[in-house]
Formats: sequence, C-alpha cells, structure tokens
Amino acid sequence: MAQKIWFNGKLVPFKNAKIHILTHTLHYGTGAFEGMRFYQTKHGAAIFQLARHIDRLLYSAKCIHMNIPFTKTQLIKATINLLKANKIKSGYIRPISIYGHGPLRVNPINIPVDVAIACWPWGSYLGAEAVKLKVSSYMRIHPSSSYTDAKITGHYVNAMLAVKEAVAAGFTEAIMLDYKGNIAEGSAENLFIIKNKIIYTPPLGTILAGITRESVIKLARDFKYKVVEKPLKIKEALNADECFLTGTAAEISPVGQIDKKKLKTQFGPITKQLRTEFMKIVSGENKKYFKWLTFVK
Ligand code: PMP
Repeated sequence: MAQKIWFNGKLVPFKNAKIHILTHTLHYGTGAFEGMRFYQTKHGAAIFQLARHIDRLLYSAKCIHMNIPFTKTQLIKATINLLKANKIKSGYIRPISIYGHGPLRVNPINIPVDVAIACWPWGSYLGAEAVKLKVSSYMRIHPSSSYTDAKITGHYVNAMLAVKEAVAAGFTEAIMLDYKGNIAEGSAENLFIIKNKIIYTPPLGTILAGITRESVIKLARDFKYKVVEKPLKIKEALNADECFLTGTAAEISPVGQIDKKKLKTQFGPITKQLRTEFMKIVSGENKKYFKWLTFVK
C-alpha cells in the first residue's frame, strides 16, 4: 500500500486520510470517482490518459451538482506529486470527490466537498484466462434514472450485484443488458465484439464512457479496422468471431464464454493484436501514442 494519500490539497500519511461516519456520500452514494493505471516505462512511471480521467471526474461531479474545489491543472499536478511521493513503479490511482460531513439530508446543501487521490500497486484484474461472462439478471441502470456515462459511486450498487451474481454462478464477470435488452457493459468494463473483421461496440447512452474504450476505438481505427458503435444483442456476441472487454482494470481482456456458450475463439487474432499494441503503448514503447501518457519525472 502507498504511504501517502493526497487529501484536500495536501499529502497526508495513509492512516490520516479519514472521513466522518456522517459523510453524505457514504449514506447516499453521491461521490464522483475515477480509476487510472500507471505503468513502469523506460522513462519512469507513466499514467495512462491522466487528463481524460480528470476530465471525466469533473464531468461526473458536475452531474451530481458538486463543485470540486480544485482545477483540472491542480488535480493533474496532485496526481503526479502523489506518485512521486509514493515511489510505486506501477499500479492503480483512485481519485474520489465526495460530499463530506454537514447537515445530513438527501439534498446536499452546505456540505463541504472533500477530494482525495490514493494509489497502490496493482497487477492483473481479470486474470490470464479468457473471461467467462454471465448475462446478468440485473439491468444496467436506466439512462433516465441517472447519468449513466458518469462514474458516480452510487451506480456501483448495480455493478456489485451483477458481479456477485456472476461469480457465485462460477463466472468471471457479468454482462448487463440495458432497458432495451441490448448489451450495456460489465461491472467495470465495456464490451467489444468482432465479426468478419469489423469491430462492434455498444454506443454511449446506457454505458460508462470508458477511456480504454475510446482509446481502443482510436487504436483499432489507426490499424484501419472498421469500428461500428451500435446497439448489440447477446445473440450477436454469441455468434461473434471474437469478443473482448476493455477497462482501466481489465485493460483488454479476451472473452471466451458467455453463459453456457463457448465462443468461436478464446483469444482471437485481432484481440491479440490490439492487446499487444495496447500493452506496448502503456509501457511507453510506442512513441506515436506518447500523448496518452503522462510521465512522472
Ligand atoms: N464500465 C464501468 C461500469 C466501469 O466501472 C469501467 C471502469 N471505469 C468501465 C466501463 C471502463 O472504463 P475505463 O476504460 O475508463 O476504465
């Protein structure tokens, strides 16, 4: 674990980064948060898509009417300083902005906003094997119920129920459908399928706007693949040539099974190609994509 956590503008010892039990976000799920990875490279640690993650944090906060008392530039600098202070070579970064302790009622009035950024060493999330997905009995939250493209803490009750159900049934991860019965996403990943060399992924609308998703779409298009964002049914995934998940934690993870059906490939060639290039990019081995990395010097 890291020794320091950035908390409301200062680096504090791990054990001092504490909040009150009457924190608004604890009771009502009203936090905005992020998850980023940083990787060891020849040029020091590099944070993948730092600016995009901070953009999404600010967007998620705006969705819940939260004024983060730090600017994008300050949050970027804070993240870099946090990594410098902790001297961890690779791992995960968790920024979170919460409604803190104040008059406790649903409407957060006169409640201070607390912001923290933590980091820790972290390895593979879904493991080396092809992922086994269970189609969830839980529906991904309705776009009229909240802001589905934002990373808001309360949304993760939905995700937690889905992954618990899937793991209890012997699967690696859940895949949730949206209110129209189309594929939405996993508990912490976006989904892609490949059919006849064309790459398909569900459009924005009922999913988190994944930053790995947008990066992989760009990468695939740079490789001259056609990428189509369109509503997808489970049947299309079952009949796909390849299927994979993307996410900060999952990176690019091949899917080998959905419910009882073993897919055509366990780790198909295009998934392999994209994953190999993605891992090169995050490890600082592809100059063309250096703009996606923030080097911690
Ligand atoms: N969907 C959900 C519900 C998630 O929690 C995540 C992880 N942030 C993703 C998709 C993937 O997003 P990203 O690539 O930005 O990590």
